Amino acid sequence: MHEQIERLRALQELDHELNSIRQERRKLEMEQAELSGEMVRIQDMVNGLDEEIGTLQSQQAELQQGLAQEEANIKRSEERLPEIKTQKEYLAVLKEVDSAKKVNKDLQAKFDEKQAQIAELNAEKDEKLKQIEELKERTEVRTSEIAEALQEFDETLEAKTGQRGTHIDPLPKQLQKRYALLMERRDGIAVVEARDGNCTGCHMHLPPQLFNSLFLNPQIQSCPHCNRLLFVTRTEA
Ligand SMILES: [Zn+2]
Repeated sequence: MHEQIERLRALQELDHELNSIRQERRKLEMEQAELSGEMVRIQDMVNGLDEEIGTLQSQQAELQQGLAQEEANIKRSEERLPEIKTQKEYLAVLKEVDSAKKVNKDLQAKFDEKQAQIAELNAEKDEKLKQIEELKERTEVRTSEIAEALQEFDETLEAKTGQRGTHIDPLPKQLQKRYALLMERRDGIAVVEARDGNCTGCHMHLPPQLFNSLFLNPQIQSCPHCNRLLFVTRTEA
């Protein structure tokens, strides 16, 4: 068999192997991305909860300030009581104290409400953190399996890419180009067998003269219908 067509056949076989390895590799990468995506999604929720909790806590701090201020007002008013001379003034101060206490009660209620919200969000956050831990545990084995497989694929790809060079480099540049173009335009099949007078790439009938010449002529010939490069297998009669 013609040396160039032998090289092309080996090259095509190797390219098919390379393609399927790359496909497998891509699948694993996608699986890994999905696993990490789920983790990121939950972590984002945790971050969102942290933010909400932070907002509530600063609102609480403001309420606390208000409470302290009212507390001071009450104390000041109450301290004035013993010095008061008239009944009228006395009642007025008592009223002041009373309304300050009411304000405080209101502030305290708001503070407690925030506290309850914070507790709720913290519980939700704990739940999410637990989910992350579980997910980590559940995906740990698969993640390291994937990493190992990717590493192996990379090594195989490197070795096979090196082998590819030994097949393609000795071919004339023009033929390399023809091969590359056919691979691209003919669904990854550039070199096909001509059998029983037909091209097995496009299944069209070959001119008998061309078919016969394949057995004799050392030149590389292509199918007039699909342009694929043809080879024949000699069967011992
Ligand atoms: Zn054809």
